[in-house]
Amino acid sequence: MNTQLFRLKLLSAPFYHFLIGLLISFLPVSLVNAATPPDLGSSDLIEYNIELEQKLGRAFSTALHTQYDLNYDPDVVAYIRKIGHEMASQIGESRPFRFYVIDNPSINAFAGPNGIIGIHTGLISAAKSEDELAAVIAHEIAHITQNHISRGHETNSKQSSINTFATILAAMLIGMYDSSAVYPTLIAGMSLDIERQLKNSRLHESEADHIGIKFLSQAGYNPHAMGYFFERLAKDSQNNPAQIPEILRSHPVTERRIAESENRAANLPVQQPKRDNNDLILIQLRLKQANQDSNSSLSDNTLTHDETCYKNSLKVPSSNKPFNIQCLQTLVKNNPNRIMYTTQLLHAIVQQELNAPNLMLFANHQADYLMELYPNNTAILMYYTNFLLYQNNDEKAVELLKTHTENQRYTYQAYKKLSEIYAQKQQTAEAYYFLALAQFNIGNLKRTRYLLKQAKKTANTNLKQQISFFKHKNGKLLKDKQIIIP
Ligand SMILES: [Zn+2]
Repeated sequence: MNTQLFRLKLLSAPFYHFLIGLLISFLPVSLVNAATPPDLGSSDLIEYNIELEQKLGRAFSTALHTQYDLNYDPDVVAYIRKIGHEMASQIGESRPFRFYVIDNPSINAFAGPNGIIGIHTGLISAAKSEDELAAVIAHEIAHITQNHISRGHETNSKQSSINTFATILAAMLIGMYDSSAVYPTLIAGMSLDIERQLKNSRLHESEADHIGIKFLSQAGYNPHAMGYFFERLAKDSQNNPAQIPEILRSHPVTERRIAESENRAANLPVQQPKRDNNDLILIQLRLKQANQDSNSSLSDNTLTHDETCYKNSLKVPSSNKPFNIQCLQTLVKNNPNRIMYTTQLLHAIVQQELNAPNLMLFANHQADYLMELYPNNTAILMYYTNFLLYQNNDEKAVELLKTHTENQRYTYQAYKKLSEIYAQKQQTAEAYYFLALAQFNIGNLKRTRYLLKQAKKTANTNLKQQISFFKHKNGKLLKDKQIIIP
């Protein structure tokens, strides 16, 4: 801690502000006009600042994954990522967006540095429609496309300072920063700065509403959903002022704001509803089962026959009350393209250790079919992997994981699984190697270097080549001299 403070002190104020100035003036321009950069002096400077934002993004992602409970339910994350990336692709992805789900019952969502967006499970449970959920995601995407985080926050390029900054920022955005705790003066100063920036941002909020509503409409959602959702949350919290949702603390809802949202939405075309809420209900059932449901808007009385079957399949089966797999199998037969029915079928078979030949044949076929259809879907990948391992088909499981991690954006879970499989086979070098790749995907470069070093110790020729190739490909990132390998 002392060294860190010392380093912070060393950064003289003018240098600090020089960097902030650069971040403010260059980042938006350079990203928007990446193809034809305007003459702003040295192009090195422009690149340097994108690099700074990327560094901050990696530190923030590492903080999220190591200090908070992320939700890794493959169906839940796949659902949020589908909404997020579909919307981002509609607007021409200007950033490397990444969507994560935070296991936290508060109604909250946030936009972090370098395209990272976090959605709390509490928010997912509280949404009454996919439009409402998409409205919040659109608002957060707008914060990113408008560079609000880059504009609003100060940092400098020292790794130690970036790590501290990212940690405080994550705590504040998630709503778990304890301002009453005693912090060393400099960290407290940094916190105050970030806090001020986060609060002092009415203009940013209004802009994110304005732009977000457009994104929402472009992606085929109801643009009125944003106003409705905020209004409903505000009304709920009036009845219980002690429980103001976290998102309203950072996004105060005034009558004016709701009116503005409504006016903007009124000028946008309302699409014929092409979205149903079927997937949202299944996701909410999953969260409810996992006890993340204090805000759940679901009531058992409104569930359809199919949803009730799905809900029952989520309960941990007991020997005296086994779950009737047939109702789930029928759901899959009638809806072969609904990923969540198939993933639940695969999961239920493994959990209940079933092995009827017809059922296994059917499930294998269905998994192959969906994997072909949705090669980027993490949920089908993870459940199919477990299903193959259950059948002792380790070889195919490993091949599947390796094929579907090539050039993917989210590889953390798949690489961790590969590492576990190799650890079980006592192939330690491979286990270290894939754990290194998992850590690399969440931005934890320090850990990546350490694990690669461990892997190399006992690696065979083939793996040594893979390690060299990986290091060569990512040499620039991995050679950061500031970080000392433990
Ligand atoms: Zn906002």
